[in-house]
Amino acid sequence: MMKANQKRIEGDINELAAFNATPGKGLTRLSYTEEYREAQRYLRMEMEKLGMSVRLDAIGNLIGRLEGTNSGRARHNEKNMTGRKDEPVQGDPKLPALAVGSHLDSVLNGGIFDGNLGIVCGLELARMLQENSIQLSHPFEVMAIVEEEGNTFGSGIMGGKAIAGKLDESLLDLLTDAGGHSARQAMIDFELNPTSIDTVKRSPADLAVFIEPHIEQGPVLESENLSVGVVDAIVGIRTREIEIVGRPDHGGTTPMHLRKDAVTAMSEVINEARRAVDDLDDGTVLTCGCVHVEPGTVNVVPGKAVFSVECRSRNQESLDFVFEQVHGVLDGLRERGFSILEKTLMELAPTHLSERVTAALKRGMSTCGLTEKVLTSGAGHDSMCIAGVTDVGMIFVASRDGRSHCPEEYSSTEDIADACNVVLEALIELDQVL
Ligand SMILES: [Zn+2]
Repeated sequence: MMKANQKRIEGDINELAAFNATPGKGLTRLSYTEEYREAQRYLRMEMEKLGMSVRLDAIGNLIGRLEGTNSGRARHNEKNMTGRKDEPVQGDPKLPALAVGSHLDSVLNGGIFDGNLGIVCGLELARMLQENSIQLSHPFEVMAIVEEEGNTFGSGIMGGKAIAGKLDESLLDLLTDAGGHSARQAMIDFELNPTSIDTVKRSPADLAVFIEPHIEQGPVLESENLSVGVVDAIVGIRTREIEIVGRPDHGGTTPMHLRKDAVTAMSEVINEARRAVDDLDDGTVLTCGCVHVEPGTVNVVPGKAVFSVECRSRNQESLDFVFEQVHGVLDGLRERGFSILEKTLMELAPTHLSERVTAALKRGMSTCGLTEKVLTSGAGHDSMCIAGVTDVGMIFVASRDGRSHCPEEYSSTEDIADACNVVLEALIELDQVL
C-alpha cells in the first residue's frame, strides 16, 4: 500500500505556520493580508515543483492542477462498449477534476491545523500520485480556499460560496473590516478582480468531486482512539434569541405565588429544551450561551430575561422538535401573563454529503486497515456550500483534547498521514467509477 510521507506533511504544516501576523500568540492569517500572500506564494512554489499549473481565481482561491491522462472521449467510448455507463460519446473532451483542499485563512490567534491540514493533505496527495506513478484519468486539483473563517469581514465561507455560485457581488461593498475598508477594496488591493466573481463558480462539468480533510475540532475521535473519521453530514443550526418580560418586584416582600419572575420562566424554557434534546438522543446539541437579566440585582425579582437558544443537528426534524417544545413552554408563559419576543439569529439547514464519496472514503479506511468511523460535523465548512454544486466528502483527523481555534490545536502527522492514505484510495476508486 502507498504511504504518505510524514516528514513532508510536518514540513508543510510548519512552513505554513510561519506566515503569521501574531507569532508566539497562535496563528493569525487573515485573508488578503501580506502573510496570506506569502502563504499562497509558498503553496504556488510547492505546486509548481510538482508540475502543477497554478491559478488564482477572482476571489482569491489558489488552485493547483495536474492534468489527467484521459481526453474523456476515449473513456466514454470504452464505457459504452462495456455497457457500464450510458454516457454520450460527444461532449467536452475534458473530464471534470477531482479536488482536495480546505481554507488557508485562520481565526485570530488560532491553531496551525484548522484549514491548513486539508491543503497540506492535497499537496501530499499530489506527491504520492507522482512518486507512485499513479496516472488518474481525471485532472487532480489542490484547492486553498480563501476567507472561510469570516474574521475579517464578519461573514465566513465566502470562498466556498463563490465556488458554489452563491456569493452576491453586492455583499462585497456591504462587508467591511474593522478599519471600515470594504471586502471589494481588500480584493482589489490584493490584485483580484471582484467584478468577475461569477467566474469562480464551478459545476459538475468541471469539478466532479471535492474532498476536504479537516481537523475534527472536537473530542470524539481521540476519545475512541481513532486517527480519522468520515463525515457524512454537517449539522443544521437554528439559533433564536428569546426575550421574556415579567415584572420586577421587591425580592423580600413579594410572595412566590404573586411573582412574575423572568429568570424562573427562562429556566423552564431551557429545561424543556434540554429534556427534548435528551429524548431525541440522536447527537442533537443545545447551547444557551448568552444570557442577560434585568435589573440584575440580588434582591429584586428579575423582570426581564433575554437569552439565546442554539440547537444543532444533522436532522431537520430534530431542530423542529426541540423548538416545538420550546414554543409549548412559551405559550404557557404567555397565558400566565409574561410577554415574549422571539428573534431568529441563524437558520441553516443540515447538509448531507455525497453518499458516493462517503462510501469511497469508508472503503479507503478499511483498505488502510482503519476502523470505519462515521461522524457528523458540528461546525460549518466550505464543503457545506460546495456540496450544493458537486459531490463532496469530508474526512476528520483527531484533535488533541478536542481543542481548536486556539494555539493548543494539534493533530499528529501520523494521523494526518492516515487521512492522506484513505483519501488516495478513495480518489483512485472515484477516478475509475466516475
Ligand atoms: Zn476550518
